[in-house]
Amino acid sequence: MYKREETKPVFVGGVQIGGQKSVVIQSMTTADTRDVEKTLAEIQRLHDAGCQIVRLAVINEDAARAIKKIKERSPLPLVADIHFDHRLALIALESGIDKIRINPGNIGSKEKTKRVVEACRERNVPIRIGVNSGSVERRLLEKYGYPSPEAIVESAVDHVEILEDLNYDNIVISLKSSDVPTMIQTYSLMAQKRNYPLHVGVTEAGTQFSGAIKSSVGIGTVLSMGIGDTIRVSLTADPVEEIKVAKQILRSLDIVNNDPVVIACPSCGRCAIDLIGLATKVEDAISTLKVPLKVAVMGCAVNGPGEAREADVGVAGGNGEGLIFRNGVIVRKVKENELFEELMKEINEMVNEKKPT
Ligand code: SF4
Repeated sequence: MYKREETKPVFVGGVQIGGQKSVVIQSMTTADTRDVEKTLAEIQRLHDAGCQIVRLAVINEDAARAIKKIKERSPLPLVADIHFDHRLALIALESGIDKIRINPGNIGSKEKTKRVVEACRERNVPIRIGVNSGSVERRLLEKYGYPSPEAIVESAVDHVEILEDLNYDNIVISLKSSDVPTMIQTYSLMAQKRNYPLHVGVTEAGTQFSGAIKSSVGIGTVLSMGIGDTIRVSLTADPVEEIKVAKQILRSLDIVNNDPVVIACPSCGRCAIDLIGLATKVEDAISTLKVPLKVAVMGCAVNGPGEAREADVGVAGGNGEGLIFRNGVIVRKVKENELFEELMKEINEMVNEKKPT
């Protein structure tokens, strides 16, 4: 089976993509890149939520020049999203960009492509080739009849070969489709062709709820095959929501183990506390912690004590009250209205113990 660690490591600023077990989370700002303060505020929120690399739309020269100011204060490495215009790529590179998303086949002449590649080479800046089902060339659509996995992969390989002919292999590839089965097949085909790191995503996945599910199924399936080095969940929502979903995908597959996880029962007729409210509040409160911690929020004595004991910290509800567990041991019984505060007290203590000194 194809293994994530077998991909070529590529560096985006200080962040490694590929050649390792971990998977890097990225997103894209929605602010106009020319608005430096607004863009930086968005980058900060993404960083705080757990984003590791951020992409900016570079629509004109002013946006390309704004990168310099953004870069000075950005807590995250930056990727310039550029279509067609090689001059924007050159300005972005001069402005200190860490990675460029541009398709070499769309730059125009070989001379222009060469200039971009040489500027990237000088600065050790990777190029992401991004093929979407909507961007497959007419020639390939005629050959395959529709943007099939084979057509998307052939398009990507054509772009890759342009860079390889220039002896450039600092490459990341994405092959997105809004159709989940197509995207799964496409990534698995591509993984057999080259060992460049793969940026995985379902494009135009949709709004917060449906897009999160679609992305989880698509990205999760690809990652579970050992394919994929960086992910972007594309949602028609606040980009911070993309990070929350991405983190949950990685946690679900045990790809990250430095984040807290909440185990909560679905609740049923036996539950005598507001379990949904409590679990939601706890998940929210611990979502930005960077500590491996298992928290169980359980409704009653049927499965509650068992799960709560297995977790680092847990609660098992009773009749208007609950038992607090820590390291498998009951530490106290508290009233329902004190459950959240008491559970958080235990969590905070444990987080402090687990934090590296
Ligand atoms: Fe129902 Fe109790 Fe199981 Fe929760 S732990 S689903 S309340 S039986």
